[in-house]
Amino acid sequence: MRSHNLSGTFLISFIIIIINIPALNAKGNPVKIIAHRGAWKQNNLPQNSIAALKKSIELNLAGSELDIQMTADDSLVINHDKDFNKLIIEKTEYRELVKFRLLNGEKLPTLREYLIAGSENNISTRLICELKPSGISTERGVKLAEKVVGLVKELNVQHLVSYISFDYNIVKRIAGLDPQADNQYLNGDKNPDQLKSDGIRGADYNISVFRKNPHWIEEAKRAGIILNAWTVNKPEDMDWLISLGFDYITTDEPELLRERIEALLKQTGK
Ligand code: MG
Repeated sequence: MRSHNLSGTFLISFIIIIINIPALNAKGNPVKIIAHRGAWKQNNLPQNSIAALKKSIELNLAGSELDIQMTADDSLVINHDKDFNKLIIEKTEYRELVKFRLLNGEKLPTLREYLIAGSENNISTRLICELKPSGISTERGVKLAEKVVGLVKELNVQHLVSYISFDYNIVKRIAGLDPQADNQYLNGDKNPDQLKSDGIRGADYNISVFRKNPHWIEEAKRAGIILNAWTVNKPEDMDWLISLGFDYITTDEPELLRERIEALLKQTGK
């Protein structure tokens, strides 16, 4: 009886060790951290502010995500919601929007200001640019893609920029404009082979999509498609993705994710 209990305990410990082994990604690296809308949460900063971006850079994270929208007069501004101070961004001119400040006193950032701030004293934190689909027309979404890629080239910051979007027309247009760009799809309704054949570099899907389609993880690795999941804030979800060898995890809790990765690496001596 006693030896049965001991072997049972050993088996349980063994299973726990197996579950917690952090797999390396297809390139042999541990998972990298992307701060969702910047490193705002633990630092009490507004989402998508330049201060939250600077915090991501200070933390030396692999990426800092941001949301891009186009105003009625075609300015590019950084904001998650389709409205800003109750004004619909797509239907409002920039000069009206900019009258309102972010909660930390910052001006509503333009993409130009954000890219310039993000390239100062930064060689390793990528700016993960989410291009928001247009609520007005598909054509406007495609125009947004053209303007964003044009500005990135003008500022010569291609090496620091990745693109993501829920709109497949937008990611396909980006693939056409800059085939070398790191360009990932968010909506979770295309399998890795479809992405590959359309020149899209990564599957950046909600974690629930990977839980429903776990076979896509191996398919993506085989096809050379980058694996990224959002928005992963629970420790058990972080551990699951780490164990599967994801390339990136997008989170509101970059400090917590870093602790989990470091603890798991230490535990296995990697
Ligand atoms: Mg976003």
